[in-house]
Amino acid sequence: MRNYLKHYINGEWVDSTGKDMTEVYNPATEEVIGKISLGTAEDLDKAVQAARDAFPSFSQTTREERIDFLQRIAEEYKRRKEDIVETITEELGSPKKKSEEIHFQMGYAHFTQAAEELKKFQFVDERERSTVIKEPIGVSGLITPWNFPTNQTTTKIASALAAGSTMVLKPAELTPFAAMILAEIFDEVGLPKGVFNLVNGTGEEIGNGISSHPDIDFVSFTGSVGVGQKTMENGAKTIKKVALELGGKSPLIVLDDADPEYAANTAIHHIMMNTGQVCTAATRIIVPANMKADFEEALQRNLPKYKVGDPLDEDVVTGPLVAEKIFNRVQDYIQKGIDEGATLFAGGTGKPDGLEKGYFAKPTIFTDVDNQMTIAREEIFGPVMSVIYANSLDEAMEIANDTDYGLAGYVVGKDKETLAKVAKSIRAGRITINNAKADYSAPFGGYKRSGIGREWGDFGIEEYLEPKAILGMD
Ligand code: NAD
Repeated sequence: MRNYLKHYINGEWVDSTGKDMTEVYNPATEEVIGKISLGTAEDLDKAVQAARDAFPSFSQTTREERIDFLQRIAEEYKRRKEDIVETITEELGSPKKKSEEIHFQMGYAHFTQAAEELKKFQFVDERERSTVIKEPIGVSGLITPWNFPTNQTTTKIASALAAGSTMVLKPAELTPFAAMILAEIFDEVGLPKGVFNLVNGTGEEIGNGISSHPDIDFVSFTGSVGVGQKTMENGAKTIKKVALELGGKSPLIVLDDADPEYAANTAIHHIMMNTGQVCTAATRIIVPANMKADFEEALQRNLPKYKVGDPLDEDVVTGPLVAEKIFNRVQDYIQKGIDEGATLFAGGTGKPDGLEKGYFAKPTIFTDVDNQMTIAREEIFGPVMSVIYANSLDEAMEIANDTDYGLAGYVVGKDKETLAKVAKSIRAGRITINNAKADYSAPFGGYKRSGIGREWGDFGIEEYLEPKAILGMD
């Protein structure tokens, strides 16, 4: 049982001032794996005060000191690898191998990347008639979702540390334990007290409390569009800078010279990875109409190769959805797809055979989807694919951009010029051609309703800085 009933405030594990707690479940077994305390406004005030008090000295640390912190954190994070992998497997239901290869690895990459960026970051820009200095923004409030318990938290924390800002983190209630390990890591490396504070709690109490807090200068929120809107509204009251990393409905455009086998596997990978609970997942697969037969044959042949089941099983690539309410929401979307007339090509409602316990959903593929159907417009956040057939590349590009979102886009095919043309045509923050490897130095974030601002690499650090122009300093 993991009972983390304390908050981490001012360099110490402290009791919650309230009595409320919540249970955390293993979504693969539906069993309780531990509890956390639900913090109060008083707990949050203490954490914000600690971050405020730590700011004057932490903001004056040298670049070298902060690089040293980031490097020591990365080392300690690596030392805690087994705990981190085990925790994410248990609280999220992520297959153990993926918890290591994806979740653990992303956290490590953000700390090491931030250290690398910091080595060359330009904090001072001498212009002809002014000097522009970039200064740490102050106290940052970090609010994170449950689907990538180390990636979402570490990208924010690493950037804030690199910039010299202090912070208060509120992790997601569904997967809070990985963040508690991060607090232990910062404690172990001796991060000055008050630089990092963690208060567990509900979105209603601590999330709203952060976005409304008069002593927080910047809020970095990752989560749903609805809560992002509320965060902006709250932030507006004190003219707080707000960065939002929200949802997506990303397109994958298959060119007519693409190998149908490669395209089908790319599409399947997107709905299976993290059980489709990925903000950047390609969920609208736009395929040339004349490739329909070959593409569907490749889907049919390859889907069974992606095993759904117990996250502890080495062969499993897809675990359960994170919670019952998420399972039910995915079921509703699958039913909507059927009701609105899409062709149910694979999967459907209900649980896969033999997986009655746990929040396992059937990997579901809809074909002949119209881009106006609900399943093509709304983020489902589960293992559900919509295949849309297009009669020309122009039509494919139009469909790709006919969405409220703009987080990511994907294109597979052979002709380099066409790949580049299509990549540039998609209005989204991150486009991947032919499954190119991740780049942690490149910006991550969305156009349109997918958000405001960027994370990762130097763009991520910029978010935690304020530019100051000084005139006449020469
Ligand atoms: P969510 O919006 O329900 O919750 C996110 C966080 O906000 C949680 O910590 C939650 O407790 C908190 N919260 C809830 N109500 C709040 C309120 N009124 N004020 C402030 N905070 C509040 O999202 P979720 O279900 O945890 O995560 C899934 C969503 O996150 C999806 O839409 C997904 O696309 C998005 N997401 C985006 C990115 C990205 O980088 N763009 C990455 C991962 C997830």
